[in-house]
Amino acid sequence: MPHRAAQRTNAHPRRAKIVATVGPASGDEPMLRQLLEAGVDVVRLNLSHGDHEFHGAILRRVRRIAGELGRFVPVIVDLMGPRYRLSQLEGEPKMLEAGEEVTFGVGEVDLPVEESEFLDSLQVGERVLIDNGLVELEVVQRADRRVLATVVFGGQVSTRKGINLPDTDLPFTISDKDRADIAFAVEHDADFIAVSFVGGPGDLEAIRGVMEEHRGNLPLIAKLERAAVMKRLDPTVQAADAVMVARGDLGVEVPPHRVPVMQKQIISSGRRYGKPVIVATQMLESMMQQPRPTRAETSDVANAVFDGADALMLSGETAAGRFPVEAVGTMCRIIEEAEHYRRPKAYDPKDKPAATHLLPGSSEQPYLNAGRDLHLEIPEVVSAAAVYAVDRIDCKHIVAFSQGGFTARMIARYRPNTPITVFTRNEEVARRVQLVWGARPVLLEYEVNHHDEVVASVDRILVEKQLARPGDTITILMGDPIDQRPLTNLMRVHRVRSG
Ligand code: PGA
Ligand code: MN
Repeated sequence: MPHRAAQRTNAHPRRAKIVATVGPASGDEPMLRQLLEAGVDVVRLNLSHGDHEFHGAILRRVRRIAGELGRFVPVIVDLMGPRYRLSQLEGEPKMLEAGEEVTFGVGEVDLPVEESEFLDSLQVGERVLIDNGLVELEVVQRADRRVLATVVFGGQVSTRKGINLPDTDLPFTISDKDRADIAFAVEHDADFIAVSFVGGPGDLEAIRGVMEEHRGNLPLIAKLERAAVMKRLDPTVQAADAVMVARGDLGVEVPPHRVPVMQKQIISSGRRYGKPVIVATQMLESMMQQPRPTRAETSDVANAVFDGADALMLSGETAAGRFPVEAVGTMCRIIEEAEHYRRPKAYDPKDKPAATHLLPGSSEQPYLNAGRDLHLEIPEVVSAAAVYAVDRIDCKHIVAFSQGGFTARMIARYRPNTPITVFTRNEEVARRVQLVWGARPVLLEYEVNHHDEVVASVDRILVEKQLARPGDTITILMGDPIDQRPLTNLMRVHRVRSG
């Protein structure tokens, strides 16, 4: 089988990215190396499991191996968030029968809980879901933190099973563990913090506040997994730096049949505001035990690509499964096939340009002005103009010379056929753009002070890396004058010069 890293330099590299959760099954050096070589673009550490020593070691290992492979691999620190659990049960597993009454909470109860503060928000008539919604209770009466409930759907329950409260208006709380994990992420220079169970924009602000206490300012991925957040989808997406369709918990909090439509709504909101969207959970679940996916999983991965996701995530498959490398390879091949199907074979001037309907004056104009911030309109319109241009000419690359990665996101939301290459002086930016659909980074190792220098460097490096040949047409975006670091305001369409 050809080496994936080599394939990446092809004219049409894979556009949708792969996020892999690293855990006990994948943390050692040879396995991590294999995962990166198999196509992992982004690593996630799930802080619901494992300690700081374990995650810190993996983070350092990922950085070192990526360096050796000449790659940029960002690391996401995923907070546990307000996740509620049953505590130690007596005589488990306990069988609950539909119709029976049970007590729940603290004190002398059938179902004690680990942490009890959330019980204060619980109202009569609301549902309590245990173990991914397999067991459902309905609250009949509450006295302080002792709750009387009837069993609606029965089943077995046991110690430490998770609890979801889809109907309850829960205040977002930041636990001591989350605070310590945020400090860990800042200290270890992680690339993103994923915020579990976000209820709205204010929750993200609260996390930013805690980061500030540790003098950190990492981009936040809002995990959309509560019923309530879907009512505030757009403002939450705007307040986040990226979002995750966290289908595991979302499918417990809302009926599972609503999740596929929500996935489409979230992706569409992400594209409207230029925020990367990760589709997560159970994508290749059966590969935890078997080397081949089910047909339904295969379709799910392909359909997430067709939906326009920036990245697809593996959880247990790579963290704790028996076939982590096979899962990544499988995901890679499904994505490539799906993208091959959607990509026009070759440029044809008679083809309808893909992005036209998104451009100014069209009915979908709200794609513009993502930030509702006037000074962002210039990079937005220049990016839109670049996509308009490359859809009409046989252009090999859109190059964004980028200080912060904003332009790459503005280009990517049009999902152009032309590869997006981000030239940056900043290693953090080089890592973080990996989450963006179709964007591949090149780290510029020296200072450039004039737009002619940018153009000359881009030409030379693209040819050196065999990403372009002399004579190829490319489109370069940058902020000019370079030394004043303005946002993108300049577009240059030109032919790559030799030497
Ligand atoms: P988790 O989040 O894996 O951290 O629970 C993802 C999800 O709920 O889908
Ligand atoms: Mn979750």
